[in-house]
Amino acid sequence: STQARIVILGGGAGGMAMANRLSRRLDGARISLVEPREVHHYQPGWTLVASGVWNPDKTMRPNARFVPNGVDWVRQPAAGIDAANRRVELGDGSWLDYDYLIVATGLQLNYQLIDGMTPELVGSHGIGSVYASIEGAARTRDAIDAWIAQGSGKGIFTAAPTPVKCAGAPLKMTFTTLSRLEASGRRDAFQVEFMAPGAALFTQPYINDFVKQRFDDQGVTRRHHYRLSAIDPQAREAEFTFVGPESEFTSHHELREEEFSREGERKVVASYDFIHVVPPMSAPDFVKASDLIAQDGPFRGEWLEVDIHTLQHKRYPEVFGIGDVIGAPINKTAASVKAQAPVVEANLIAQMQGQALSRRHNGYTSCPMITGIGKAMLVEFGYDNDFAFLPSFPFIDPKDESWVAWVMKDRMLQPAYYAVLEGQA
Ligand code: FAD
Repeated sequence: STQARIVILGGGAGGMAMANRLSRRLDGARISLVEPREVHHYQPGWTLVASGVWNPDKTMRPNARFVPNGVDWVRQPAAGIDAANRRVELGDGSWLDYDYLIVATGLQLNYQLIDGMTPELVGSHGIGSVYASIEGAARTRDAIDAWIAQGSGKGIFTAAPTPVKCAGAPLKMTFTTLSRLEASGRRDAFQVEFMAPGAALFTQPYINDFVKQRFDDQGVTRRHHYRLSAIDPQAREAEFTFVGPESEFTSHHELREEEFSREGERKVVASYDFIHVVPPMSAPDFVKASDLIAQDGPFRGEWLEVDIHTLQHKRYPEVFGIGDVIGAPINKTAASVKAQAPVVEANLIAQMQGQALSRRHNGYTSCPMITGIGKAMLVEFGYDNDFAFLPSFPFIDPKDESWVAWVMKDRMLQPAYYAVLEGQA
């Protein structure tokens, strides 16, 4: 039994899983779950909504269904973290003291870093963005419908110059749209381009090569080392900024000269009929403003500082992180949360008992890479051996596209996800 005060920031996949696990495991602990939303969103379903396969209603459940008895649900946002004094500031200006803190806020979408772009634009002027919200996912579907109904034109798919949640989603949106263009019977009337800020499209090397080859085979023009920097919705023009390095310039097709304009060679302006916008992402501003943010290394100023294996904060041993907010080379999936939750549980309890932290997260992440409507690859991998595959189903080869993997995405992963929230998986 313990009288410890545990505060969990965020009641999404990670925070809700921890609330359920810790309330079951710890007798007498005072657990507060800070979560302003009444509705829980199953975000992995948004790709299927934006692809016209699922109805949006299917992705929403009341949070009340998941919050365990005995946990104090604080229905307001956290506004600040005073790590030195172990307290959290809430939206109404009050403070919540803690002995142990779990940061599970998820990440922040930084649409404002693209000039002219706001999430409200999604669904109008040929703009889609599966990430924006459930409404945004549904409006993305409508914008793609409108483009297809137009019968021809150019679609530009983008990727972000930062880590993103479900790094496969920008690729999946391209593949499901290609399926829909083919189904329209007029594939040749549509141009499809993919603009990537880096040389790679995906971290896992086999899948990276596979997707590049498949894009080439399916007539998708790839351009690398460009990030979306501005958008002019009225003109349906997007500005991309070259983010080098020059020597690694590996555009699959030659850039057309006429698209260079405005501020010289470092930018390219492209017109579009449809554009899929992927915003830069980071930890939420209030986490960035706290001393818990990474102080150096690749995640500096942008992501929560944790040991990527124990998930304990590197400078504040009473603080742990789970989910999208943490600085780690991969992860940012619900599948990672499933793998991380037992690690955070065991290590937090070890910390409370003054014992060594023995559980280690191996970086497990999974992304059913949808390669078309009705087919997918079950991609599972971790930190080690250059992001080698970590397959959990002996009957599914991660290198194969299959209908079975699609069925898992379409029907089986959502119940598995709710089991994670309930602390069972
Ligand atoms: P979230 O689940 O986002 O929860 C964060 C919570 O914190 C939210 O409830 C929010 O309201 C709350 N919060 C935010 N700010 C505050 C604050 N100031 N105070 C208090 N609470 C706050 N994962 C997969 O495994 N497979 C997939 O195929 C997949 N596809 C995806 C497709 C899309 C389009 C998207 C958007 C995501 C996808 N994911 C997928 C990723 C998955 O949804 C996330 O990785 C997972 O939800 C991360 O859990 P989390 O708890 O870190 O964040």
